[in-house]
Amino acid sequence: PDGITLAGVVKRYGGSRAALDVPHLGIPAGSFTVVVGPSGCGKSTGLRVIAGLETADAGRVVIDGADVTGLPAGERGVAMVFQDFALYPQMTVERNISFGLRLAARHDRRHGPSRDEIESRVAEVCARLGLSDLRRRLPRQLSGGERQRVGLARAIVRRPAVLLLDEPLSSLDAQLRQRARAELVRLHRELGNTVVLVTHDQLEALSMGTNLVVMNRGRVVQTGPPEQVYRYP
Ligand code: ADP
Ligand code: ADP
Repeated sequence: PDGITLAGVVKRYGGSRAALDVPHLGIPAGSFTVVVGPSGCGKSTGLRVIAGLETADAGRVVIDGADVTGLPAGERGVAMVFQDFALYPQMTVERNISFGLRLAARHDRRHGPSRDEIESRVAEVCARLGLSDLRRRLPRQLSGGERQRVGLARAIVRRPAVLLLDEPLSSLDAQLRQRARAELVRLHRELGNTVVLVTHDQLEALSMGTNLVVMNRGRVVQTGPPEQVYRYP
């Protein structure tokens, strides 16, 4: 695997300046890459283009050697966690988390996960994220922070090769945020997958990232390890 490459990617929503204009960006495989920059600089747009939720006007997206430019989101081997979590309102926490695994099991009865495996993976991820006591609740019976953790659990339970996170910690209180950060870092170490996290929080970028991408006005202005990017005079 060689990570994620953007080549000549341009996205315009109208307006004079492109929302995203990236001649070249390489995100190393296995890195924990944090995309940082002010609100409106194109971070979410970039993530959505990688995920296949937004079609760029030009350019190519390559994930682990495969050109995925024309592929729909479901066929890119990526999982994305949204700012608004996008949980299924009629399903319990448990069923929300297991949804993708149950779908995979139904899709491929021979190689997909067994019922026992689904159960144990859901239990494990719930324990990691402090959701064990909330498994039977519906999303409307959860706080914002709890919903956010369910959204995260639903993505990581599938152990995706590429995990895309759009400000996933923004509605957590300070303590939960610290815990979720630690979980994400630990998970990344264990899985060795490629994580791309978007935030406007520089502390988050510094504390979590092995690789930073700094954006401004639709462009990538700096990339590299945190200690190289943030050099104080
Ligand atoms: P945040 O400020 O939390 O980053 P945004 O306001 O950028 O959130 O985006 C929220 C949603 O609105 C996203 O789905 C985004 O694509 C959409 N959006 C953002 N800016 C515009 C805009 N100028 N016109 C229409 N939709 C927009
Ligand atoms: P960030 O994630 O860094 O806050 P975005 O990628 O959400 O930035 O937005 C980049 C620019 O594109 C902003 O000027 C925003 O208003 C605009 N934009 C984002 N989504 C839409 C949309 N769906 N329609 C129109 N403009 C959008």
